[in-house]
Amino acid sequence: MYSKENGFVIPDHPKIPYIEGDGTGPDIWKATRMVLNRAVFHAYGSRRKIVWVEALAGEKAFRKTGTWLPAETLEIIKNHRIAIKGPLTTPVGKGIRSINVALRQELDLYGCVRPIVYIRGLPSPIRHPEKVDMVVFRENTEDVYTGLEWEADSPMAKKIIELVQHETGKPIRQGSGIGLKPMSRFGTRRLVRMAISFAIENRRKSVTLVHKGNIMKYTEGAFRNWGYEVALEEFGENIITEEDLLNRYNGKAPAGKIVLKDRIADAMFQQILLRPDECDILAMPNLNGDYMSDALAAMVGGLGMAPGANIGDGYAVFEATHGTAPKYADQDKVNPGSLILSGVMMLEFLGWKEAAVHIRKGLQKTVRQKRVTYDLARQMNGATELKCSAFASAIIDNFR
Ligand code: NAP
Repeated sequence: MYSKENGFVIPDHPKIPYIEGDGTGPDIWKATRMVLNRAVFHAYGSRRKIVWVEALAGEKAFRKTGTWLPAETLEIIKNHRIAIKGPLTTPVGKGIRSINVALRQELDLYGCVRPIVYIRGLPSPIRHPEKVDMVVFRENTEDVYTGLEWEADSPMAKKIIELVQHETGKPIRQGSGIGLKPMSRFGTRRLVRMAISFAIENRRKSVTLVHKGNIMKYTEGAFRNWGYEVALEEFGENIITEEDLLNRYNGKAPAGKIVLKDRIADAMFQQILLRPDECDILAMPNLNGDYMSDALAAMVGGLGMAPGANIGDGYAVFEATHGTAPKYADQDKVNPGSLILSGVMMLEFLGWKEAAVHIRKGLQKTVRQKRVTYDLARQMNGATELKCSAFASAIIDNFR
C-alpha cells in the first residue's frame, strides 16, 4: 500500500485499523466512524469505502487477551500503515506504562502533529481567537517520555545517585526518584525536518523551535542548535533566520521564504496568548509539546475540538488529543470533535480531500447553529446541548 518513493497508494476500499479506546473512547469512536463513513459516501458514492478493522488495545484488549497492547495490534497497524484510535487509560504513578507512548515508540511515530485552528463561533478565552492558526510538531519518542525512570530508594536510583556524586561531585538528595531526559541529534533533526517540510508544502510563514535551552543546555539547547543545523543544511533555499530577516531584509520576508525562529518555552506560552498571529508552525521536544498543545486547544474550544496525528516514516496513527475522560464513560455525552477532526486529518492524508471538506463544512455549520455538546454549550450563550451521537448526526445533516 505504501512505498516511500511514490508516497501512499490508496485503494478505493482501504482497510484501516481502529482502536476504540477506553472510557469515553467507544462513544466518540462510534460517532466518528458514522461521520467518516457518511462523508466518504457523500463525496464518492459507493466507489470508495473504508473497511474498518478492529485492533485491540487498553482495557478491552486486557479483558479479551490478558495483554494491554497485544503484539497482533502492532502487526495489524504495521500491515495497514494507517490507523485511528480513541484515548487509552494510563494510571498515574503506578501500574502499566502508557500504551500510547508504547505505540508511538514501537511504530516509531516520531512526530505528533496537532493543528490548532479556530472555527468561528467556538468559545474561547482570548479576544481574537480568529488569529489562531498554528500546527504543533511535537517530538514523540525522546525526552522524559522514554520511560527511563526509577523509583526513590530503588537499587537503580541509588546507583545513579552514587555515580553522579562520584563522577561530578554534585550531590543528589538521597531518596530522590530519578528520571532521564535523553534527546538526540537524530531525533531532533527528523522532527524539525518534518515541520519544515510541512511548512514548505503548505506555504506557511514561519517555523519556531520552542525549547528551554537556557536551563537544559545539552538537551533542550541542543534541540535548538540541531534544529537550526538541519534547517540551514537541508532547506537553505527556503529558509531565512530571524536574524537575517532583521539584518538583511528589513523585517520583511521575501516571497516564498519561511522565517526560522526560536523561543524559550515559558516566553512562548505568553506569546501564543498575546500575539497568536505571530506563531505559525511550532516544533518542540516532547514535554513542551504536551503542555503547549493542550493550552492551544483551550484557545480554540477546548480539548474536545483538538485533533492530532502521530506520524513516522512508515506509519501514521490519528488520535484525539484528550484522554479517556472516564467520569463521562458510556453516557453518550462528550464531544467527539477531536476524534472526528483527527479523522479529517486522516482523510486528507489519504488524499480524500472532498470527504474531508464535507466534514469541516458540516462541523462549522453545526457550531454556527450553536448545536453543540456540553463542553461547548456551557461556554456559549443560547446554545442547544446535544449528546455525542446527536452532534455527529447534526454534522452529517449539515453536509448539504
Ligand atoms: P482527559 O481524559 O483528557 O479529561 C480531562 C477533562 O477534559 C475532562 O474531565 C473534560 O473536562 C475534558 N475533556 C476531555 N475529553 C473531552 C471531550 N471529548 N469532550 C469534552 N470534554 C473533554 O484527561 P485526564 O482525566 O487527565 O485523563 C484520563 C485518562 O486518559 C488518564 O488515564 C490519562 O493517562 C489518559 N490519557 C490518554 C491520552 C491518549 O490516549 N492519547 C491522552 C491524555 C490522557 P470537564 O470535566 O471539565 O468536562
